[in-house]
Amino acid sequence: MVQARAEELRRLLNRAAHAYYVLDAPVMEDPVYDRLYRELVGLEQADPELIRPDSPTRRVGGAPAEGFTSVAHRVPLLSLDNAFSHEDLDVWYGRLLKVLDREAPEGSPAPALPMVGELKIDGNALALSYEQGVLVRAATRGDGERGEEITANVRTIRSVPLRLDLEPPPAWVEVRGEAFIPEATFAAINAERAERGEAPFANPRNACAGTLRQLDPQVVASRGLSFFAYTLHLPEVWQGGPRSQWQALDWLKAAGFRVNPHRALCPDLAAVKAFCDHWEQERRGLPYATDGVVVKLDDLRLQGEAGFTQKAPRWAIALKYAAEEAPSRLLRLTCQVGRTGVITPVAEFEPVPLAGTTVSRATLHNADRLAELDLCAGDTIVVRKAGEIIPEVVRVLKELRPAGAPRLELPPTCPECGSALVREEGEAATRCVNNGCPAILRGSLRHWVSKGALDVDGLGIKLIEQLVDRRLVAAIPDLYRLDAALLASLERMGETSAAKLVAALEASKQQPWHRQLYGLGIHHVGEVNAKALARAFPSATTLEAAALADEADEAPDRLTAVFGIGAEIAQSLRQWFATPANRSLLEQLGAQGFSLAAAPEPDGGGGPPAATPLAGLTFVLTGTLPTLSRSAAQALIEAAGGKVSGSVSRRTSHVVAGEEAGSKLSKAQALGVSVLDEDGLRALLRTEPV
Ligand code: NAD
Repeated sequence: MVQARAEELRRLLNRAAHAYYVLDAPVMEDPVYDRLYRELVGLEQADPELIRPDSPTRRVGGAPAEGFTSVAHRVPLLSLDNAFSHEDLDVWYGRLLKVLDREAPEGSPAPALPMVGELKIDGNALALSYEQGVLVRAATRGDGERGEEITANVRTIRSVPLRLDLEPPPAWVEVRGEAFIPEATFAAINAERAERGEAPFANPRNACAGTLRQLDPQVVASRGLSFFAYTLHLPEVWQGGPRSQWQALDWLKAAGFRVNPHRALCPDLAAVKAFCDHWEQERRGLPYATDGVVVKLDDLRLQGEAGFTQKAPRWAIALKYAAEEAPSRLLRLTCQVGRTGVITPVAEFEPVPLAGTTVSRATLHNADRLAELDLCAGDTIVVRKAGEIIPEVVRVLKELRPAGAPRLELPPTCPECGSALVREEGEAATRCVNNGCPAILRGSLRHWVSKGALDVDGLGIKLIEQLVDRRLVAAIPDLYRLDAALLASLERMGETSAAKLVAALEASKQQPWHRQLYGLGIHHVGEVNAKALARAFPSATTLEAAALADEADEAPDRLTAVFGIGAEIAQSLRQWFATPANRSLLEQLGAQGFSLAAAPEPDGGGGPPAATPLAGLTFVLTGTLPTLSRSAAQALIEAAGGKVSGSVSRRTSHVVAGEEAGSKLSKAQALGVSVLDEDGLRALLRTEPV
């Protein structure tokens, strides 16, 4: 079993490495490769019998491509071992101290060795050979021992000096560094390729590798490659050479190379970790891609003492940034029933760390997505989670599929109530249409008491489950018939919490009309639309009249006349009000004391209508404004008839940006959308600072 898995992983990783290094066309995402690679390393470490000479763990990079002369490197170009966490760094450092025989005695702190932190530029390593100060040869890393000779191409890179700025120069100098394509150039190259109908490069690193292997140096010159130097080898006899990595970087700079300015000489491991954490955040602002930080022991003599493993130096390590994609094994497919009866398939898989959290479930959206993924039991899947984004299953690694694994599909019946599921023609969603389905009831109760709706404290998921399971609540109005004694008898409830809940429910009857409307959970009527509708139709009666008048198709559409209300929402409102059970729900809520209407104006409603200078305008807020909080700005905009949206598009009227505005501001600038500061917003609102 383990042997078969190791075999499978070896086959898959070798195929991926060939596609990546030789064809410049990766067949999987880097973090996915990294995790599968680590799995293989783990298996090989646990049982060295499993190691084969063709294992990717035994090799550096890929074989040199055809079409170029292969050359032997004066000093081999190795890879770097990877760390994925602070703990991995600790392990690496501990091992390094052991190799150097510098371990601390029991109980005393580990000795601090100065280290250099550098950015790990996501490009391609180059070996540059200078003789008497003149560039004579440039080669790719290849398999570490031999690379492809690409001197003519490298001569076109402006940041590679053709002659060193040294007098007199050493007999020979070997410089290693990273050739890379800046992000903006990468986007332009892919746009051009798309225009010519060619497949885009997967990432800047592949674009760079493909460019370096161009047979025509003119094409290379047109691609705008750049180069950062980071390693120096000099003849041993040469006097006055650097004694540390830090000095080597200065030496390279003085000799005329471009050296990355974001580097740090760290006195100990804590400083290294701080450097790594800093760049994990800041890297997004750099104009080129980095995939981690490289940590190197500063003292070159100690580097020599520490030496190398088969494929990497012991004195350096690459700390890779938290992955946003990873493979995992599917454990089961479950289905969630939403409050509108929509069935959402959910993949449950072995937990994986992604973008700072551990993920073990991801939604698969609907039956179409499930079919598109072609998911089978026990599949290895690729899961993605970037930053705050909800995890998703990107694809299936079919090569790792267990033989004869059954295909997974949505069940024919509701997992909650057993009634047959329905999928209307032309609809993406599969639904449970049983009004009595306990999952639908639980969902609608949860929505009713949620923060944006009636905001009832003390009515959590567990309690709702008990109320539904014991048939104490069969619809929203039943919540208001619960008495404290009954509630107190339920699990994890006491008299005090029961009394508080009854009071909170009673108080919720005073929530404004737009919250009551939102709480009803009408399809497509979110918080923003509920506010717009509540402003235009100050009661359930007027809204119902508008919806049903439109239904009769006599008058011009009064619903879609409301800014922000489209045909889809109007249709959903019509359906909702045309359903007798919903009208009866409104009656019962009214009987319980809900106003289902806007509170009367303080002056009796007789005053002039509120000014709406922002009617028809959509705003997006980003960053921190000097005096207004996000919600205060939103309230002002909405009170003036404007709408606040979460994302920028061409239809956005203004983006209001404050300090530390993020990607929304860049998007607005890219789309040419107007950008205002707080003063600009106030000018539109014609209000004075508070
Ligand atoms: P690596 O990219 O993890 O690290 C070594 C390389 O880092 C060096 O060769 C050098 O080019 C580069 N580097 C950048 N900045 C540096 C600096 N300041 N100092 C020193 N080196 C610096 O190792 P690798 O062997 O080049 O490639 C392995 C990686 O390639 C894997 O981790 C994986 O992400 C990727 N890969 C992906 C696939 C795929 O199918 N997607 C296949 C094979 C490899």
